[in-house]
Amino acid sequence: MRIVLLGAPGSGKGTQSKLLVEKYKIPQMSTGDLLRAEVAAGTDLGKRAKAAMDAGQLVTDDVVLGMIQARLAKPDAKSGFILDGFPRNIPQAQSLDAMLARLGQPLQLALLVDVDTDVLLKRLTGRRTCGSCGAIYNIYFSAPKTANKCDKCGSALTHRSDDNEQTVANRLKVYQQQTAPLVNYYKAQGKLRTVRGVGAVSAIFKNVTDIIESQIRPLADVMGKIESAAARQAAKAKAAAVAKAAAAKAAAKVAKAAPSAKAKAVAPAAKPKPLEKKAMPKKAAVKKAAPKAKPKKTSKPAAKAKKVK
Ligand SMILES: [Zn+2]
Repeated sequence: MRIVLLGAPGSGKGTQSKLLVEKYKIPQMSTGDLLRAEVAAGTDLGKRAKAAMDAGQLVTDDVVLGMIQARLAKPDAKSGFILDGFPRNIPQAQSLDAMLARLGQPLQLALLVDVDTDVLLKRLTGRRTCGSCGAIYNIYFSAPKTANKCDKCGSALTHRSDDNEQTVANRLKVYQQQTAPLVNYYKAQGKLRTVRGVGAVSAIFKNVTDIIESQIRPLADVMGKIESAAARQAAKAKAAAVAKAAAAKAAAKVAKAAPSAKAKAVAPAAKPKPLEKKAMPKKAAVKKAAPKAKPKKTSKPAAKAKKVK
């Protein structure tokens, strides 16, 4: 299954993504992870990415797409992938679609984890962590028993500077402006499904898997039907080609046996064949038929058959 996950910072899509990786045994690809891996491996893409980052520039889309394509070629991505954090805007989504089309692996589902902005704000700004034991709290949803004190070890809780209201509001605004249009993009493709990202993680995940089962599995069924129909069509065409080849062979035989006039009459049927690839065997058949004619001391008609080709 090939899925793009959409959702604002704080929507919890990262958590859902991890659960999907576990359940369906497909890799999750986030641009951050891919970048780190390519840079660490010192690949060409990694070097280009590092040069851009060192220069304080954004890594270009073609580098990111290259990394995704390289990642897709790895064996564990054979049965699909979950893209998280890419695409972030319409041009990236279009480039991604083009690349996946070239690979014959189009996206099947764009899953939006939807959470109201006021909830996102509380989730992101209310976060508190314990510097000693790493316990995580949220002053709105899972507050410690004593304000600013860890329930487990009694240490003071800290508030990350990038979790302040202004920064968070900015991040959400950027998300709204850039990523939200993707929702319409995928909706127009009929690939968008939305899950409410509030409530228990397990309940959200149940909804996610229900969507996947109903969206991708039936789609896989349809694809299977289309593929088998195509296969039947191909088999039919092949049978027709074989029949044609046999007819041509017979015609060649007739040509060598009968006088030249008859060979001429047969010729038109043999002529169009070289245009079609599948017709090639017929040509070979005619060729083969011609030499066969030789021992039968009817060398003249055989020569005629050759010309006909
Ligand atoms: Zn603690």
